[in-house]
Amino acid sequence: MTRLGAEIAALIAAEGPMPLDRYMALCLGHPSHGYYMTRDPLGARGDFMTAPEISQVFGELIGAWAAATWEAMGRPPRLRLVECGPGRGTLMQDLIRAARVAPDFQAAIDLHLVETSPVLITRQREAMAATGIEATWHADLAAVPPGPALVIANEFLDALPIRQFVMTDKGWRERVVGLVEARLAFGLAPDPVPSVLVPAELRQAKAGATVEICPAFQSLAATLGARRETGPQVALFIDYGHARSAHGETLQAVRAHGFVDPLAEPGEADLTAHVDFEALGRQAADHGLAASSVLSQRDLLFRLGLRPRAEALAKANPGAFTDLKAAVERLIDPAPTGMGSLFKARVIHSADVIVPAFDS
Ligand code: SAH
Repeated sequence: MTRLGAEIAALIAAEGPMPLDRYMALCLGHPSHGYYMTRDPLGARGDFMTAPEISQVFGELIGAWAAATWEAMGRPPRLRLVECGPGRGTLMQDLIRAARVAPDFQAAIDLHLVETSPVLITRQREAMAATGIEATWHADLAAVPPGPALVIANEFLDALPIRQFVMTDKGWRERVVGLVEARLAFGLAPDPVPSVLVPAELRQAKAGATVEICPAFQSLAATLGARRETGPQVALFIDYGHARSAHGETLQAVRAHGFVDPLAEPGEADLTAHVDFEALGRQAADHGLAASSVLSQRDLLFRLGLRPRAEALAKANPGAFTDLKAAVERLIDPAPTGMGSLFKARVIHSADVIVPAFDS
């Protein structure tokens, strides 16, 4: 067992089984042994690959979108440009480079990065130094100063801890991590949870059905909702997940580009869940925000001008054509598990902003 596994086992022995969100939070964020606290997990030699690491086109297209969105927000002279979970800072670096063609937008940028990993903050500092734009780091979105804000988050929501409820003959019971013969094992809490915890549209279910909720969506939406008084707010979320809420379990652990048992190596494997974009939209509405349609990553990138951008890049660097083509095809792969279809995008925003590519 890993050191974190031993610590979690001791906690369970002392306090009893823990809900999944606590287990996930410890695995990812434990101050000394948490997965993100101890490593840079990205890239071919890491555990997983993300869109901005696959091609610069991704961040560049979002850069052009960001400039257009700033226009749609009424060109605020000072814009909090915020990225949640910026990884290596690659997306932001590509975004800022692409924004050079919009100098007024670039001049308005006040850059804030929301990150908890000390290892990745170091990488992000290097990446931001190369842009020449000063950034401020925060552990939480709520710490970003008030004012108009444009928030970008790629593969951030999937890392936020979830709770799972399973329908039984006693009602909805919470999935917990406990100990069986000194090993971590999934189980169900003995008493049912109040059914209000389960989204209304999923409450009718057969025995064995699972529901996942991500409590952090509520606090994210509350933070963005409260900021509206200080200026227009727009937040773009891109992640793997589903457009409609549904029964099912999606907790997964990934190490070295393959799936592993989520209980086998706490702190050594990435632990994520698919994002329920409908639930995100419901939270937005509850906090006075509008939610855009949900686009597949493929549709989003085409709407943002993938074709002309890729053609321009290929023309500028013909030697890199084969690699560029492969990277772009990976980003827009329409197969059910391909990035173009599994990944979705949704914007939650102040209702009076008409968000480019999503609402127009
Ligand atoms: N957006 C990047 C990285 C995705 S990995 C990319 O697309 O390449 C997830 C990122 O979210 C990492 O930077 C991780 O350290 C960060 N992260 C995970 N949980 C977080 C939390 N609770 N608060 C802030 N950042 C978090």
